Amino acid sequence: MGELNGRRADLHGCLTKMAVEPGLSGAPASYALRAGNGELDLNVRLGQRLTLEWTGAIACTHCGRPTRKSFAQGYCYPCFKTLAQCDTCIVKPELCHFFEGTCREPEWGERHCFQPHVIYLANSSGLKVGITRRTQVPTRWLDQGAIQALPILEVDTRQQAGFVEVLFKEQVADRTNWRAMLKGEVDRLDLRAERDRLLDQLASGLSNLRERFGEEAIRTLDAPPVELNYPVHEFPRKIVSHNFDKRRDVAGILMGIKGQYLLFDTGVINLRKFTGYEVMVS
Ligand SMILES: [Zn+2]
Repeated sequence: MGELNGRRADLHGCLTKMAVEPGLSGAPASYALRAGNGELDLNVRLGQRLTLEWTGAIACTHCGRPTRKSFAQGYCYPCFKTLAQCDTCIVKPELCHFFEGTCREPEWGERHCFQPHVIYLANSSGLKVGITRRTQVPTRWLDQGAIQALPILEVDTRQQAGFVEVLFKEQVADRTNWRAMLKGEVDRLDLRAERDRLLDQLASGLSNLRERFGEEAIRTLDAPPVELNYPVHEFPRKIVSHNFDKRRDVAGILMGIKGQYLLFDTGVINLRKFTGYEVMVS
């Protein structure tokens, strides 16, 4: 462990995404801060002072090489330009070019994109649509700070999920208003009713996709809605963002954790944005 202003750090290393587990029967999710090979349970630190200090170093989350700047939330420039997971088609799966023979890493594509994907409705700052690999449920929803989620359709590939999402985007947002999400100003929704309304409105678009990919390609799910809770003592009234690139030390009383954000009494920080940053935590 390193030293921070003469004190031992509780955690030292390059940041990765916080580990998050849903709480059981309405309990808040449990979070662990992860840096290097270490983990720090964060729920027990609520209400206490927490300091993260960036050492000035950044290591690529994929290859570990030092990089002066982080690309696409944690990669060095060469990885950003060559990894399939950094390609445009990950953000816009409908642009998948695997069948043109131009996938950056066909084996990675087979493992990640040719897997069952779920199209879901979530309520993070209002109704949104999203897609994720089936195995990423419910982590994906917790990472987005959703308070409710409902899987609605399942498909066999990421590209098909992309086409379905494009269709839904005609009617519903695919982005989260992170300020509203962090302020906790989110009204509850009846996701089952929203699903029924959208499936009805988009029926002809969905039947076009079924004609194209096969009748069984887009399957309706009948899963129950999921409720998600977060360990938050108090939501910020006004959102001020911390940023290691502007100030190396981020400190304050930890008031809550939601999505991949830490909520301090001094401001909020999106840890996802600083993946690969080497920090000392105390
Ligand atoms: Zn790299």
